[in-house]
Amino acid sequence: MNLLEKSELIKSNEITASENLEQYIQEIEKKNPNLNVFLETDYDKARETAKNIDSKIKNGEKTGRLAGMVIGVKSNISVEDLHITAASRTLENYIGSYNATVINRIQEEGGIIIGMTNMDEFAAGNSTETSYFGHTQNPAAEGHIPGGSSGGSAAAIAAELCDLSIGSDTGGSIRNPASHCGVLGFKPTYGAVSRQGLLDLAMSMDQIGPFASDTSGIAMMLDTILGFDERECTTIDWNVPDFTKLNPVDVQDSFKGVKLGVVKQFLEVSDDAIVDIIQGGIDKMEEAGAEVVELSFDHLDLCLPTFYLINYVEFFSATRKYDGRKYGYKIEDVSGEEVLRRINIGAYISQKEYNDKYYKKALQARSIIRKEITKLLEGVDAIVGPTVPKLPHKLGASLEPMEVYAYDVLTVIANLAGIPASSIKAGEVNGIPVGLQFQAKPLEDAKILRLMSAFEENNYYFLKI
Ligand code: GLN
Repeated sequence: MNLLEKSELIKSNEITASENLEQYIQEIEKKNPNLNVFLETDYDKARETAKNIDSKIKNGEKTGRLAGMVIGVKSNISVEDLHITAASRTLENYIGSYNATVINRIQEEGGIIIGMTNMDEFAAGNSTETSYFGHTQNPAAEGHIPGGSSGGSAAAIAAELCDLSIGSDTGGSIRNPASHCGVLGFKPTYGAVSRQGLLDLAMSMDQIGPFASDTSGIAMMLDTILGFDERECTTIDWNVPDFTKLNPVDVQDSFKGVKLGVVKQFLEVSDDAIVDIIQGGIDKMEEAGAEVVELSFDHLDLCLPTFYLINYVEFFSATRKYDGRKYGYKIEDVSGEEVLRRINIGAYISQKEYNDKYYKKALQARSIIRKEITKLLEGVDAIVGPTVPKLPHKLGASLEPMEVYAYDVLTVIANLAGIPASSIKAGEVNGIPVGLQFQAKPLEDAKILRLMSAFEENNYYFLKI
């Protein structure tokens, strides 16, 4: 039974929303002490919401597309009355005073918010180890990081603690943990989802998106959260596709007529075991009718420096409000090492005299990267490759900042260019999940969903080596 079928059972009263919720509450109570996925839960409010939905369903009243689905939310997205800490001591006691646009939409569609998930402090990381509230275990690979920064939202799906979850992705923070935890994650086109109510990491790249255990769940959440928001000036006013209707695709010939690009440099920078899994997935798609062409991306070495320079400057500017006067503690007084590094370097680069030297150069490099990826995408339906070039490291391993940043080399391009991208499990290396990434042209989010759906339907999972 996929998530769409489950939601239909709830709507036809074969499973009640309350039963669905209680089963997850039990799982959370059992597993969360060890996994540290949820930083906060609100069972009372969730139970009340579930009851309301059940009585609506019994009375034959209209319910939304997420009716009775249980949802986890990353701790940097504002939910009224819950702690919006961004996993930082800075905002330890900060309680959301309003709902982000995506939360309003989820609630209007009958989704039940169960709680707030763990993450890297202010989303600045890819391991969820920098959380002030402690690390999250990877439910799919014990003893390893779940990835990040939305590690809690990915682990919540992997450990079956909720139906769907949302996270944010600035340079891979949805796709990276989806890959490491063996679940599906989707970063929409920049501007396709409202960021109103999301705490900024780097506002020109931040985007909210879903996690799920199957593509029908991703589709349901995209249908809920995508679309123009008059309260948020970066959202695009466009004809949002009906993702749920696109899904599932026919298994037979599902890749016929699809042209996929494989960038050779994306494979060259990835570990051999990961390349084997991804190559296996590509071969299967070819067998199912896809035309596969090799592409070359000549500026991969520019991507991480460009991404991190822009990230530092935008993050520095975003953190100026955490000065301890309005809410929370002064960020520099209480934040962790990585956040402090970004604030310090961001401040330095932002000084006028350094502007031309670093930031302007970064913006120029960004436009080179955008042009190059756009050119490559012109000739294909999607680019396919690994999501992360390495396997998740062991919890507690000590890595230099550059080693940490290297995990992001294949995910930052989509954020620098504003294009949609996703991760879906392609296989395992010694039991550790490996994700495959699809990237497409701006606003071709539906194309990515179709490809994920075809990949899933053909059951390309479990290509163990
Ligand atoms: N790992 C990247 C960073 O540390 C991206 C994080 C994200 O996407 N939020 O900034």
